[in-house]
Order: sequence, then C-alpha cells, then structure tokens
Amino acid sequence: MTLTGKTRLAGVVGQPIAHSLSPILHNAWLKASGLDGVYAPFGIAEPRFEAFIDGLRAGSIRGLNITLPFKIRALAVADEISHRARLAQAANVLVFAEDGRISADNTDGAGLIWAFGSQTPGFDPQAGPVAIIGAGGGAQGAAAAFLEAGCPKVRLFNRTLEKAKRVAESLGEGVEAWSLADADQGLQDVIAVINATSAGLLGGGLALPLEATPVDAVIMDMTYKPLITPFLTQALGLGRRTVDGLEMLIGQARPSFAAFFGRDPPDEVDVRHLALNALEPTS
Ligand code: NDP
Repeated sequence: MTLTGKTRLAGVVGQPIAHSLSPILHNAWLKASGLDGVYAPFGIAEPRFEAFIDGLRAGSIRGLNITLPFKIRALAVADEISHRARLAQAANVLVFAEDGRISADNTDGAGLIWAFGSQTPGFDPQAGPVAIIGAGGGAQGAAAAFLEAGCPKVRLFNRTLEKAKRVAESLGEGVEAWSLADADQGLQDVIAVINATSAGLLGGGLALPLEATPVDAVIMDMTYKPLITPFLTQALGLGRRTVDGLEMLIGQARPSFAAFFGRDPPDEVDVRHLALNALEPTS
C-alpha cells in the first residue's frame, strides 16, 4: 500500500484494540474499491480518550469507529448527535468535519437489522414482539433499531431490573422491562431473542429457557468470539434459526465506511471470510 499526501485516514478507537476485526474489514474494502485511504487501530489509555479526540479536531482524520469502553464518552465529545445515537445513548461512529466539528452516530442497530436480513431472509421485525437480553449500550441500540423498524413491542430482560426499567422509560412505551426470572412467560410469543449481554465474554454463560420460544423464533447473539457461542449452540440444538454477532459487526461497518470514505463498500469482497480467518485461523 502506498500512502500519499491525499490519503484519507480513518480508524477505530478502543481499549484493548489488538483483536479488533474492523481494520480487516475496512482495509479490504478500501483495497477492492481502489480508494486512497487507510484504516488504523488506536489503543488509547482510558483517561486520555477526550484528549486524543480533541487533538484530531485540527484535521487529518475523516472519522473513527468507537468501541469498548468509549461508546458513551464518545457522545459527550460530539458537537452533533444523530437521533439514533441519542436513542441508544452511545456512539460507535464519529465523523470529523473540516472545521473541527464532530458528529456522532450509532450504526450498531442498523447493523443488527441488516444481519437479520442477511442470515434469516424473510424475517419481518414488524411480525411480533422481540426479547432483548441486557440493558447496556448494545441492548439499547438494538431496542431503538427494532422500534424504528416497526416492531410492536420490545421486551428488555436484564439481570439488574432497575437498569432495564430506566432504559425502557427513556425509549418510550414500545419497550417493557422484564425480570430474567420471568423469561419463561416473556419468551412464549416472541419472533426473536437477542443476547446483548457480556455474559459470554466473561467466561460464564447465559442460562435462558430458549425452549419457551416459538419454533420459528430467531435467536441472535451479539458476541462473536467464539462465532457459535454456547447461547447459539443451545438455540441450534432446539432447531431454531440463528444470527451471529459477526454479521452484525459487518452490518455496522458498512455505513461507517460510507461515512468515512464517501461511498458504499464494494460487494465483491468477502469480508466475512477474511474476518472468520482472523477469528479462527486455519493454520
Ligand atoms: P455493557 O457493559 O454496556 O452491558 C452489559 C450487559 O450485560 C448489562 O446489561 C449486564 O447486566 C449484562 N450482563 C453482564 N454479565 C452478565 C451475566 N453474567 N448474566 C446476565 N447478564 C449479564 O455492554 P454492551 O451493551 O456494550 O455490549 C454487550 C455485548 O454485545 C458485548 O459482548 C459486546 O461485545 C457485544 N456487542 C457486539 C456488537 C457487534 O457488532 N457484534 C456491537 C455492540 C456490542 P447488568 O445491568 O445487570 O450489569
């Protein structure tokens, strides 16, 4: 790759960042589209996030994806906040204007809906209630996206019920807070269940009575390491259709790329295959 004086720079900020798949996706799209651009990872010391972002207002970077643990703080550094980022109360995209102003957006929810369309064709978010497990930034963005897609009811199940109540209140009457203890009852008529907890990441599992869901319900896990999580294994064992977190990651990256580089990512490059190789190297 040759960098020139005109190279457009974008990247991803997080801590830790070494295992981020975003540079693999964006740089493959850049190469295939022949654009003069580069996408770099930035592992920022947690207390220095605001200082890092502020320094970039002077120019030089088109935009950044934001990942853990900075998605909430990214809202506070922005001059403009999109409606969906405000609803999610978190940003995964910052775009820098030439005058140094920063706009924040959240493409995670759009990525989630895209992943359902990609892996479970024909899935209709308007066909019934969905259950989202968790009440953090991921769950909030998912709830907002399903509401926007016309879902009649979103049930938020969270370990800490009070947190689910606060989130439900902020999102309005289309969202209900449920206790995990009532999952048996609350899963009976859902069209989808989405795991938006970090339970898997922490080495534990999420014990949920997925057998209570209708046989045609779709089960989704936002976690993608491993790609087939214990939660998805449970769903597959029950014969349910599934959607994985890697497809959501690709789905949120697509509009990010367009925001940074001014055009849609090219379809001909199989970024899922590249990401899978990075996740589960064959040699
Ligand atoms: P947060 O830290 O904001 O929220 C974590 C949630 O998980 C909270 O609701 C918490 O409940 C719950 N939780 C944690 N441990 C357990 C447990 N043992 N049992 C039950 N609930 C638990 O995280 P995010 O919302 O930002 O992210 C959640 C997950 O989604 C992460 O794995 C993240 O990597 C993934 N994600 C994936 C994306 C993708 O593109 N594939 C995009 C965004 C997120 P409590 O309130 O009780 O603490």
